[in-house]
Amino acid sequence: MEDQVLATNQTKRIALIAHDNKKQDLLAWASFNRDLLAQHELYATGTTGRLLEEELDLKIIKFQSGAMGGDQQIGAKISQGEIDFLIFFWDPLKPMPHDPDVKALLRIAVVWNIPVACNRASADFIISSPLMSGEYQRLLPSHQDRDERLERHSIS
Ligand code: PGA
Repeated sequence: MEDQVLATNQTKRIALIAHDNKKQDLLAWASFNRDLLAQHELYATGTTGRLLEEELDLKIIKFQSGAMGGDQQIGAKISQGEIDFLIFFWDPLKPMPHDPDVKALLRIAVVWNIPVACNRASADFIISSPLMSGEYQRLLPSHQDRDERLERHSIS
């Protein structure tokens, strides 16, 4: 069976999220990389998005706040093939009421094989990758299991 791939354009669709204790970190990183980020389409959860818009003076497509469903909205966009990578500075030192959503988002990002950066060093490596400025063929998850299940249950 052939692997399915999705071509990612030169202009990437980047989702940015930071938990409250990490927002300053993300703002500092984003402002350092403003000119690079300006070449892409930016998405964010509510508060992160508002802060980034002020800091960068760039258009950010904003979803709900993370705790109100924003993480799930971004997860849905990833599974629809509409987000190319995720910068998610989550807080490893504080329990979150929406922890299941955080976990679900990180899981779906892995399922759909998008690059994910959860701290500044990883974000630095991703943003400076030569792959940022070109097309990229991203491998998609195989549906072999689903196809086999459908076959098993099909009426012959
Ligand atoms: P926020 O949501 O950008 O609205 O703060 C982020 C989160 O808490 O997951």
